[in-house]
Amino acid sequence: MQFDTVIKNGTIVTANETFASDLGLTGGRITAIAEALPVENAGKVIDASGRLVMPGGVDVHTHLDMPFGGTTSSDDFETGTTAAAYGGTTTLIDFAVQTKGHSLRQAFETWMRKAERKAAIDYAFHCVITDLGDAQFEEMGSLIREGVSSFKLFMAYPGVLMVDDATIFRAMQQTAKYGGMICLHAENGSVIDVIVQRALAEGKRAPKYHALTRPTTAEGEATGRAMALAEMAGAPVYIVHLSCNDALEKVREARDRGLPAYAETCPQYLFLSIEKMDAPGFESAKYVFTPPLREKWHQEKLWQGLTRDTLQVVSTDHCPFCFKEQKELGKDDFSKIPNGGPGIEHRLSLVYTGGVHGGWFSPNRFVQLVSTAPAKLFGLFPRKGTIAVGSDADIVIFDANEEQTISVQTHHMRIDYSMYEGIRVKGVPKTVLSRGRVIVDNGKFVGRAGSGEFIRRQAITRLAR
Ligand SMILES: [Zn+2]
Repeated sequence: MQFDTVIKNGTIVTANETFASDLGLTGGRITAIAEALPVENAGKVIDASGRLVMPGGVDVHTHLDMPFGGTTSSDDFETGTTAAAYGGTTTLIDFAVQTKGHSLRQAFETWMRKAERKAAIDYAFHCVITDLGDAQFEEMGSLIREGVSSFKLFMAYPGVLMVDDATIFRAMQQTAKYGGMICLHAENGSVIDVIVQRALAEGKRAPKYHALTRPTTAEGEATGRAMALAEMAGAPVYIVHLSCNDALEKVREARDRGLPAYAETCPQYLFLSIEKMDAPGFESAKYVFTPPLREKWHQEKLWQGLTRDTLQVVSTDHCPFCFKEQKELGKDDFSKIPNGGPGIEHRLSLVYTGGVHGGWFSPNRFVQLVSTAPAKLFGLFPRKGTIAVGSDADIVIFDANEEQTISVQTHHMRIDYSMYEGIRVKGVPKTVLSRGRVIVDNGKFVGRAGSGEFIRRQAITRLAR
């Protein structure tokens, strides 16, 4: 047998197993998993001694080159996917946002143009629905067939992105019919808007009021409503960026009743808490994202949720806005601060550090959370999300014991601050392969903009328990 690449002497870690083996890669795919594979005719041999060999990360929640609040997120598909590659992520799903009154297809095509010739890793899109007329309702079926098999709707941001329950319910009926997944931003936006307006009227304009005007109850209520709507529609549902115990309890209750309810959390909710909002002056604008940071005790609940499978996925909600000039748009009014924070690069290192070294779960569960489950829920599996013969050779060679300090000085995202500045992580992606090509070689990016491909996803969304 002849291989393009052989990865020797590594410890393979999948969601189910850990074992010593070599990997043979041919034509961008994994073609052999066996001990002592022959290397004489291999184009390239990578020694993974002492390292973990895992499927590449799948980040199902990013916002690259996204217009928001009069500005655009600071990473485009080139800088964002390059930073993702450094962090061991080899596939991402971004959001194509429908402009009200326009077709869903137009959103898809707009975002395809943003990514082409720029992405350094593979990518796919969810479609954000902001209004669902009869034409868009019919379009959902054709988009699902073309590989855009998930949709996101907002229960927050009235007047901008928010849709009513009827719209959510109708969208769910389409996925019940055609397959695919409805993702929800679950916060009660109408109530939050009243609280925000009252705060502004009282002269409360500092960044911390972004957090103080978005109570956990608003997230819990919307999450519960999402579960009920999905149950009535007979559709699966996925809650994005779940941040607090109130919402977690709603997902747990639904899952206990056997409903196909799923949710993700993000590293910012696992590592940061509302104390960050006490930073002096405008500094805390760096942590203005939605949902906001919560009281610290929620973190333990979220780690428990990941351990007990109430939460199935960790994604980043990477949506970077520079502190200078972008976050500063809200200098005198927290409601005008662009919502979002940077994180695409550090997901694997942070989750490994807190989850595995922190004693919450095994390296296998780690792989499940950052790669396998997101691939399964969003129709990428088994092409992505595992190490198996026939799967794409998207691979991370990971040093579980190397330590690093996260800093704006050393990160690769195009943004002038880090949310995780000074945090020490243990567990670092060293070499990363995308469809068999080395794109990060021992910590150095050697990939190429434009080599990432659009992935048509299947409409299969169920995750076995
Ligand atoms: Zn988001």
